Amino acid sequence: MKRTLPLVLIVACLAAAGCGGTGAGAGVPVTTGDEVAVKAGSSAGTQGGSGVQALPRFRGTVVTGRDAVRSKVRSSWRRGCPVGPVELRLLRVDYWGFDKRVHQGELIVHRDHARRILVVLGKLFRARYPIQRLKLVDAYGADDHRSMAANNTSGFNCRRVSGTSRWSEHAFGGAIDLNPLRNPYVTRGGRVSPPAGRPYVNRARRAAGMVHANDAVVRAFAAAGWRWGGSWSGSKDYQHFSSTGR
Ligand SMILES: [Zn+2]
Repeated sequence: MKRTLPLVLIVACLAAAGCGGTGAGAGVPVTTGDEVAVKAGSSAGTQGGSGVQALPRFRGTVVTGRDAVRSKVRSSWRRGCPVGPVELRLLRVDYWGFDKRVHQGELIVHRDHARRILVVLGKLFRARYPIQRLKLVDAYGADDHRSMAANNTSGFNCRRVSGTSRWSEHAFGGAIDLNPLRNPYVTRGGRVSPPAGRPYVNRARRAAGMVHANDAVVRAFAAAGWRWGGSWSGSKDYQHFSSTGR
């Protein structure tokens, strides 16, 4: 009996695709993104039968450190904003890109929402919901139009609701815009923002990254108490999820 044990262990190691350090052996499913290499995890059995291959494990953190946020919001925050950098949290998370690879991105939300949004992003990852870009709006000079045109997913941005003097929910770190070009904001009068999102006003489409009523994305946010702008009456903000529902 003693002699059979090592053999069993070796087989188990091969099956787990990760025994003994780097583990990038021949035939082992390793997914490599542009920014990170993710080793296949042992989570295949928990994915609701979505495939026989082991899926990479989601990795996400709330970045700690007194100045973790301050240096990241030089353009998107200024004095007079409704919340300060100390109330915001930087999330660094894995996500599936449109290229079907795992990438790592960043998102800023209010500290009260950080943990539950991390859970939401984990659910989106496991559902393989693709995100084209996940960069802070400072990468676009805090210009929402540029960020949207790049189909960039973002959270905090100290800005007003377009065309009003009212703070956007994004200014509180309580809102996220997902794949905004494929989930545009459409006013009652038919204005589309970003303009290049017009082909996606037709919500019968099923292009990658589009959000639809009751899909895995809407359900993940709903479980966190966040509501979707695509269910508003009148204007529709298909990219927008917020804690207040506004
Ligand atoms: Zn929004």
